Amino acid sequence: MAQVAMVMNLDKCIGCHTCSVTCKQTWTNRTGTEYAWFNNVETRPGQGYPRGHEDQDRWRGGWQLKHGRLVPRTGGRARRLARLFANPELPTLDDYYQPWTYDYENLTTAPLGDDLPTARPRSLIDGSPTDVTWGPNWDDDLGGGPEQLAADPVLRKMSDKVRLEYEQAFMFYLPRICEHCLNPACVAVCPSGALYKRVEDGIVLVDQDRCRGWRMCVSGCPYKKVYFNHATGKAEKCTFCYPRIEAGEPTVCSETCVGRLRYLGVMLYDPDKVGEAAATTDEQDLYEAQLGCFLDPDDPEVARDAEESGIPHDWVEAARRSPVRALITDYRVALPLHPEYRTMPMVWYVPPLSPVVDALTSSGHDGEDPASLFGAIGSLRIPLEYLAELFTAGDTAPVEAALCRLAAMRSHMRRVNLGEEQDPEIARSVGMDER
Ligand code: SF4
Ligand code: SF4
Repeated sequence: MAQVAMVMNLDKCIGCHTCSVTCKQTWTNRTGTEYAWFNNVETRPGQGYPRGHEDQDRWRGGWQLKHGRLVPRTGGRARRLARLFANPELPTLDDYYQPWTYDYENLTTAPLGDDLPTARPRSLIDGSPTDVTWGPNWDDDLGGGPEQLAADPVLRKMSDKVRLEYEQAFMFYLPRICEHCLNPACVAVCPSGALYKRVEDGIVLVDQDRCRGWRMCVSGCPYKKVYFNHATGKAEKCTFCYPRIEAGEPTVCSETCVGRLRYLGVMLYDPDKVGEAAATTDEQDLYEAQLGCFLDPDDPEVARDAEESGIPHDWVEAARRSPVRALITDYRVALPLHPEYRTMPMVWYVPPLSPVVDALTSSGHDGEDPASLFGAIGSLRIPLEYLAELFTAGDTAPVEAALCRLAAMRSHMRRVNLGEEQDPEIARSVGMDER
């Protein structure tokens, strides 16, 4: 089968939120979906949007793992009704956000006093002071770059140990949309059969006529990417901009991305392997298990079978030329988000290599010597373990391999751009010499 997919290169995201705003203007600029961002950009480390969406212990009520498969919690009609009215796993509006700003006026109009005036938060809805302790990208406000920290007179007075801990703080941005999973939990848990996965391109949509507002999909989606429209009483979600895809256009978020970090493409996969892969016992094997579902469109037999099963020739050709396929299966620099959720997500990420640490800059270039990267990877600014928790259920080896390939590519491209002699050792050191 064919599946549209996306890869995002996290080193290139500048957190400008253009993607979120253009998506909102296109899809959720309506009554009832004010709080909904089909595309959001999270600050990492941070709690994300909605708050704590990765806390599966809190949300797991909508679905369960049974005999290695994701299945909805079943029961009689009465039990399902009871769950509808007492669904404890639904995020609250506060978990998404209440719009707020700062009371900047107070900075200039506050009367003379012993203390400096502060800009306190106030509600954007009624202007009242609010005790806001949360909002998307709230975590940005708690962070700070090394330059800011070095200029901070308080931190300058602190001991080296404390200062270094602050200076080595890290952050990066994680843009998120619906994963259009191969094994979508939202489809599995919907009692009305309103959520469905399109056969032709794998896009997961909500049939608005069939939706009865059960909201099982909201609690059932482990990525928390289904939203409830409070005006219509129906569920809504990212559509992968299917009208644009059908017209051969990219998604709005891809087209407007300032960092040009979103790659779109087609993957061919074997649907018979999906259930088997989702049932993989060891979580750390799930990344490899999902890779095992993908088919090689360069294989003439695969291409012939695909066309015989009804996949248009153009799509098979698109799968062959797909940058997404190259990043995921050929170069193995893109990784899935939380494969341990077992829904087989189809938005993958190139993990961030930057910022790099002093140990890697001895060459004078930022983190691009794969030889030294192999030795020094444990001291990367962004801890390898953190990235592994996001992308490979804690297995650091695939993340390390991806980062080393990225470092090798930087090194190679620097030589190309400077017109320097190629060094075959660079490709050899990361196992890419035969590609
Ligand atoms: Fe469904 Fe959630 Fe997967 Fe999107 S990310 S397809 S909403 S389970
Ligand atoms: Fe990141 Fe691109 Fe979105 Fe800007 S538009 S936040 S660079 S993904």
